Amino acid sequence: MTHTHVAGSIHADATSRAPSWLALPEDVNALLPRLWSANAAKDADGVLTVAGMSVTELADRVGTPAYVVDEADLRARARAFAEAFAGWEIYYAAKSFLCTAVARWVSEEGLGIDVCSSGELAVAQRAGVDLRRVGLHGNNKSVAELRHGLTAGVGRIIVDSFDEIARLSALAEELQLRARVMVRVTTGVEAHTHEYIATAHEDQKFGFSIAGGQAAEALAACHHASWLDLVGIHSHIGSQIFEPDGFEVATRRTLRLHADFAQSSGVELPELDLGGGFGIAYTSADTPSTPQALATALRGIIDAECASLGITVPHLSIEPGRAISGPSAFALYRVGTVKQVLLDGGTSRLYVAVDGGMSDNIRTALYAAEYSATVANRRSDAPPALARVVGMHCEGGDILVRDEFLPADVAPGDLIAVPASGAYSRSMASNYNHVPRPPVVAVTSGEVRTLIRRETIEDLLALDVG
Ligand SMILES: *Cc1c(COP(=O)(O)O)cnc(C)c1O
Repeated sequence: MTHTHVAGSIHADATSRAPSWLALPEDVNALLPRLWSANAAKDADGVLTVAGMSVTELADRVGTPAYVVDEADLRARARAFAEAFAGWEIYYAAKSFLCTAVARWVSEEGLGIDVCSSGELAVAQRAGVDLRRVGLHGNNKSVAELRHGLTAGVGRIIVDSFDEIARLSALAEELQLRARVMVRVTTGVEAHTHEYIATAHEDQKFGFSIAGGQAAEALAACHHASWLDLVGIHSHIGSQIFEPDGFEVATRRTLRLHADFAQSSGVELPELDLGGGFGIAYTSADTPSTPQALATALRGIIDAECASLGITVPHLSIEPGRAISGPSAFALYRVGTVKQVLLDGGTSRLYVAVDGGMSDNIRTALYAAEYSATVANRRSDAPPALARVVGMHCEGGDILVRDEFLPADVAPGDLIAVPASGAYSRSMASNYNHVPRPPVVAVTSGEVRTLIRRETIEDLLALDVG
C-alpha cells in the first residue's frame, strides 16, 4: 500500500494544531505504560502483544473490531482494591462492563457486584455469584426489577425516591421478604469532571438532597417502614475523579447526616457507601491514583470526621467500575481508509477511518471523552502526524479518538488499538446503522477465549419480526 502524504508538512501542521495536553511523542511506536494493561507490550517488530499473544494473530482469529481483555490485569486491579481497602466491602460497578466471566473473576478476587437493572442482575445470577454481595441500584427501578431483586435475595437495595420507598415497602410486605436498604443522597459536591457524568450536584435526577432536608426524611421513612431494614447512607459523587477533595467534602456531609440521624433516631447505622468514580488514564494527560493512595486518603478523612463527630466508624464500602474494567482492555480495529482533509488556512487533518465507531464506543461523541491510540501491527519509521480516528457510521460526530499522533504512513489494513476501552464501551454499545456489536475476548497466558461472541446480522434480523 502506498501513500501520497507529504510527511514534512504533516509534521509541521501536527505540532501546531495538537491540543496543549498532547505532547509530540519521542517515539510514535512506543506505548505509555499507564494507558495499557500490565501484560500489554510491543515486540521487536512493533507488534502489540497482550499476555503473550500478538494482535495480528488475534485479528486473524477473532476478527475486528473486538474488545480484548487482559484477564490477569483485570483480576489484579480487583485484588488491588480488595487489599488496599481491607476491612471494607468493594462492589464492582457492573454497568462499566459485565459478562458472566467478569462477574466470576471479580467475585473470586473477593468483590461484590453492583447492578442497576434486571438484566445485570440476571448476569450475576447466571455467573453464580453470592447474591447477598450484590447491590441493586437505579433511580427508577420497576416493580418487576424490585421483585427480581427481593426474590433473588440481593444484599442491599439502594433507594432513590419516595415513590420507590413506598413501592418497595409494599412489595416486601406482599412477598414477606425483608429488604435491606441504603438511601442514596446527594451532597452538593460537583465532581471535577464532564457535566453529564457528575452525579452529586443538586440539579440532577439521582438521590435525596442533604441540604434540602429530603435525605433526612428518606432515612426516617425507611427507618419506620416495617419491612425495610435501613442499613446506611449511600453517596456517589461522579466519575473519572482524580482529586480526593470531592470525596472529602462529600464524606464530611454524609457523616454529618449519619450522626444527625443517630441523634434523632437513637440508631447508629451500621454501613456507609462512598460510591465509585475513581479516575483512570485515557491519555497522557491523566495521572490516576493507586487504590493504596485512595485508601489512605479516604481512611484518613473518615477517621478524622468520625472522631470529631464522636461516632463509631461504620462498615464502609466503595464501588469502583472503570478503575477495574477500563484499563484492562483495549479495542482493536482495522483501518479502512485514510484521508488528508484540507482545512482553512492551507492546513489539513489526517482522518483515519476504522471498522467500528460510535456504536462500540459512544463516550467520545457523548461526553467529549479523550482517548489514545497506537498503530498495533507494525513499527513505523515515519514521522508522527496529528490524526483523528473516526468510525464507519453515518454521522459526523462518529469520532473515536479526537487527537492522537500516529505514524504519518498509517494505511488501510493497519490495526489500530485504543487502550482503556474496557469500561462503558461494550456496555454502552448500540446497533446504530444495524452494525453488529463486536465480541469481547480474553487473553490469558497466551490463550484467547471468547467471553461474548460477535453479534451477527442474523441476530439483528431475528429481532425484526415483521
Ligand atoms: C457509575 C457508578 C459507579 C461506578 O463509576 P466508575 O466511574 O465506573 O467507577 C459506582 N456507583 C454508582 C452508584 C454509579 O452510578
